[in-house]
Amino acid sequence: MQRFHFPIVIIDEDFRSENTSGLGIRALADAIQKEGFEVVGVTSYGDLSQFAQQQSRAGAFILSIDDEEFTPGPELDPAVLNLRNFISEIRFRNADIPIYLYGETRTSQHIPNDILRELHGFIHMFEDTPEFVARHIIREAKSYLDGLAPPFFRALMHYAQDGSYSWHCPGHSGGVAFLKSPIGRMFHQFFGENMLRADVCNAVEELGQLLDHTGPVADSEKNAARIFNADHCFFVTNGTSTSNKMVWHHTVAPGDVVLVDRNCHKSILHSIIMTGAVPVFLTPTRNHYGIIGPIPESEFSKAAIQKKIARHPLLQGVDAKKVRPKILTVTQSTYDGVLYNTETIKAKLDGWVDTIHFDEAWLPHAAFHKFYGAYHAMGKSRPRPKQAVVYATQSTHKLLAGISQASQVLVQDSQTVKLDRHLFNEAYLMHTSTSPQYAIIASCDVAAAMMEPPGGTALVEESIREALDFRRAMRKVDEEYGQDWWFQVWGPDKLAVEDIGQPQDWILQANEAWHGFGKLAKGFNMLDPIKSTIITPGLDVSGRFAKSGIPASIVTKFLAEHGVVVEKTGLYSFFIMFTIGITKGRWNTLLTALQQFKDDYDRNQPLWRIMPEFCQANPRYERMGLRDLCQSVHEAYAKGDIARLTTEVYLAELEPAMKPSDAYACIAHRKTERVQIDDLEGRVTTAMLTPYPPGIPLVIPGERFNRRVVDYLRFTREFNAQFPGFGADVHGLVAETGADGVRRYFVDCVLD
Ligand SMILES: *Cc1c(COP(=O)(O)O)cnc(C)c1O
Repeated sequence: MQRFHFPIVIIDEDFRSENTSGLGIRALADAIQKEGFEVVGVTSYGDLSQFAQQQSRAGAFILSIDDEEFTPGPELDPAVLNLRNFISEIRFRNADIPIYLYGETRTSQHIPNDILRELHGFIHMFEDTPEFVARHIIREAKSYLDGLAPPFFRALMHYAQDGSYSWHCPGHSGGVAFLKSPIGRMFHQFFGENMLRADVCNAVEELGQLLDHTGPVADSEKNAARIFNADHCFFVTNGTSTSNKMVWHHTVAPGDVVLVDRNCHKSILHSIIMTGAVPVFLTPTRNHYGIIGPIPESEFSKAAIQKKIARHPLLQGVDAKKVRPKILTVTQSTYDGVLYNTETIKAKLDGWVDTIHFDEAWLPHAAFHKFYGAYHAMGKSRPRPKQAVVYATQSTHKLLAGISQASQVLVQDSQTVKLDRHLFNEAYLMHTSTSPQYAIIASCDVAAAMMEPPGGTALVEESIREALDFRRAMRKVDEEYGQDWWFQVWGPDKLAVEDIGQPQDWILQANEAWHGFGKLAKGFNMLDPIKSTIITPGLDVSGRFAKSGIPASIVTKFLAEHGVVVEKTGLYSFFIMFTIGITKGRWNTLLTALQQFKDDYDRNQPLWRIMPEFCQANPRYERMGLRDLCQSVHEAYAKGDIARLTTEVYLAELEPAMKPSDAYACIAHRKTERVQIDDLEGRVTTAMLTPYPPGIPLVIPGERFNRRVVDYLRFTREFNAQFPGFGADVHGLVAETGADGVRRYFVDCVLD
């Protein structure tokens, strides 16, 4: 049987003392251990809020309230004050863990009500036997621990442990197959028996069916819907890429006009191709750091959208006034952490657009802290749109405690339209494997349960606090360096001096220099403080290159060799996130690694010494100094005016020559041609081209190459030849080496 370790934590200054008080508490500890529970005894709280973190490891707390300096007025008693602080730190995170008070001289009448209310009992020493008291505490601890598991995870643990023989797939039969070969055994030992015992197929009735949403799976989805303020929740075991396709396949049909954030994830573009929709794009702002800003509020107005429809090459002959777009999809939390006031968007489009879809792959945490106000799709006590059904798709695995591919679709019914769950499920089935991975379902279930307030609120608050502490630490380093260079963290100038500050501090105001997104509507956008873009020197927000500079890709390669892996790298910026898994150790290590970088840069250390792995892969840089390398890449960027080029190439409208689905169909009809970069102008692509950085699709199937895009690809080609190891990687480009030994780059286009 699985044994869980949740010791009972005793806090008593006499825990190790040779007095009656010490003897008494140790007798209780012994009695608890004899009943099979572990005990951890400590003599002081130390740092209260640090110690309160123990709530996630403990089965119960026993707190002594005896103190030499006892005074009759409880409000003046330091022991009582300490106790109150400790209990409130615990309850901030955990509403349920049992807390007992333990005393020799005092009784409950010495304790104020606000403390008594939070307790599970008061133990008065020497009145009962230690054995009796121990059993009482253990009963409460067990009942607390038994209540922890949400429905599906509970059923899965039960199933994996009950030892039944199964004849169903998967063929490894609870892991047994692996034990029959040496490498299989290694796999078994690495992942552990439970992972394999819990890897079952959907023939197991007692676990319910993901595909039909029955049994414990359904209970878990319902539980998650409640926790995330939605009317419906569907767990998805193949990422938000799949969640997005489900939403689209339920709401969009061939020929439908759809409104899409041009800064969307490729799964939305895949959805456009799959459904045969005609996309009308809303264009986000950009600054010259390459940071993508919000779509201006004005772009969401019906009149502005109708104007776009009227001009749309694929919608000529259609009366723009009669078109009703089927769906709006917005990337809610852009890749750099910019959020929209979703209520403003809903209000603008309700009654005209049927479905409003927020791709919240990076925002599942926002529902749990008031910091985020209306800057996420579904909150408590928000108004319901009259007609528009609201969807949010979230990658549980990106910011919460989900394992890879854990995702969910949340749905909020409107006042007049309720989701038809049966019909939605047709789209769900179209994209779900008939053998879903049960560990992923369990992690969706557990990730949701973890976020239940107050626990989830505390976790989000801690993320925000760590993120702000990191920003404050970076500023302090900067101040100490004075005129000397240091990295900047992108964000508002004003930063709360302590604690998490005010949400107001993070609202993007019109024309502020730090963001460079120009005239933004009041209160429409917010920066999520847990997303940090770190700016390296060399380029300013207006696109001007300094004399010297430090391209971000060099910094992040350096960091990787020092054990710090970042989320994404731009030209002169890179991105990190303070998820609920973040620790002080992690960001402090980043900060010291950046210090190290600065030091090595300032001393122009040879690369073979400081980046050996990189030099092994790219020996040509071995003898270069770090500063020299930065400088030569910087000069190449400056010469190509790459910041301006990248910004313009993303802002310039591309002409759609055919529907994305029609262009894509050319592949099946074998009507494509592989065209060299230099011959691309005027051609219609069947491929999706996505440069990394920034990882946003640049051209999509059906669009015609213009001069700008071709220039950009040429620059990339030349740059990559000049600086192998630092180039932009353009997904969708096909590299082929010809008979002459020359490597050329192609894009698949519609055959002319
Ligand atoms: C990552 C991402 C997705 C896809 O999510 P997966 O869970 O990786 O499939 C969708 N949309 C956005 C905006 C993303 O960043």
